[in-house]
Amino acid sequence: MPKNFPLDAQALRDVIAKFPTPFHIYDEKIIRANFKRLRETFSWAPSYIEHFAVKATPNPQIVKILAGDGAGTDCSSLAELKISEMAGVTGEKIMLTSNDTPADEFQAALKLGAIINLDDITHIDFLEKNAGLPKVLSFRYNPADIMNVGNDIIGRPADAKYGLTRNQIFDAYQIARRKGVKRFGLHTMIASNERGTETFLYTAQIMFELAVEIKNRLGINLEFVNLGGGFGIPYRPEDLPVDYRAIGEGIRELYDKILIANGLDKIRLATESGRAMTGDAGWLVSTVIHEKNTYKNYIGLDSCMANLMRPALYGAYHHITISGKENAAADHIYDVVGSLCENNDKFAIDRPLPKIDIGDILIIHDTGAHGHAMGFNYNGKLRSAELLLRENGEVELIRRAETLDDYFATLKIN
Ligand SMILES: *Cc1c(COP(=O)(O)O)cnc(C)c1O
Repeated sequence: MPKNFPLDAQALRDVIAKFPTPFHIYDEKIIRANFKRLRETFSWAPSYIEHFAVKATPNPQIVKILAGDGAGTDCSSLAELKISEMAGVTGEKIMLTSNDTPADEFQAALKLGAIINLDDITHIDFLEKNAGLPKVLSFRYNPADIMNVGNDIIGRPADAKYGLTRNQIFDAYQIARRKGVKRFGLHTMIASNERGTETFLYTAQIMFELAVEIKNRLGINLEFVNLGGGFGIPYRPEDLPVDYRAIGEGIRELYDKILIANGLDKIRLATESGRAMTGDAGWLVSTVIHEKNTYKNYIGLDSCMANLMRPALYGAYHHITISGKENAAADHIYDVVGSLCENNDKFAIDRPLPKIDIGDILIIHDTGAHGHAMGFNYNGKLRSAELLLRENGEVELIRRAETLDDYFATLKIN
């Protein structure tokens, strides 16, 4: 699939005249369409809810778009709980799925009436001591060994720090019930950026089977099963997209065959997708400020890893196009780099691109999720602005760029 960008070269120049590069720009229309597709995937499921993973794009304006269409949030920090609240999402529309959780986070979640999803059996006591126990509690299951799944970002479940073991899961529900908790959910998050159907069906299968076992062994009828996030996007133009229809139909069959057949016909399904909601709805827009020819040919941008970590952190591919040169032949090979004193600070290595000139505007695709959000301040580099292209075509500043004053604000200087 060719990579799209919603603004032509002139329209983009007009935006840049008002908001200088670098910036991330998000497209409201695409975000809404992405969520609609996920809702339709699970439209058959009783009271299905998507808890948008706030960490993907932690901006209240983005959360508001999704919340307006019915999404809740998935939070893993105090800040994400606050962002959720800023966007008007409270109560059980929030799921707190954090790990190594500090007390103040549990307290804030409880105050908001969020569903708390515990990452460890010892957290039952910790939660009780530090915040009190809620009416509803969920546990994150780590299935240890699974089929062919578990890819680069999260890794094999048994090697991951998340969740309770199979034996702990049964103990945890019993302990919580003894302490007076009345309503229960079950959660897992196995995949990350997964585009294959099998992984999602397999996840649903082990979760549904576990729900039946919990009913049979403990007499607990779970209220919901949260299948996590991890729906991938095609970062490379040649990548196949997720087959949502196959996933929806496949999970529906499993729901009938495993849950309904065992008398669990009301279990609510939940997901907590981040990337698939906002990933392909965002772009990092940056200006070429240098061209350097040494042992290789380098294109230097006015952005760096502070604005997009994924290539340096995971070796992730992000497609790049040059505004106004979309149809030019990719007959040059470049390393596209940022300005950090860190040799990993490269957006692309040996990338075939059309001839690039200083002043060209580069569009780095699919930065809407885990893009701006991961930014850091090494070398005193500042995080960029975030813009939102509204459905009516207007471009709104939804986060200003950091300034040096922001960077110095926490220092004792004199
Ligand atoms: C990161 C994360 C998500 C979202 O993952 P995506 O790959 O963006 O869908 C959901 N749940 C938990 C617990 C996470 O840590």
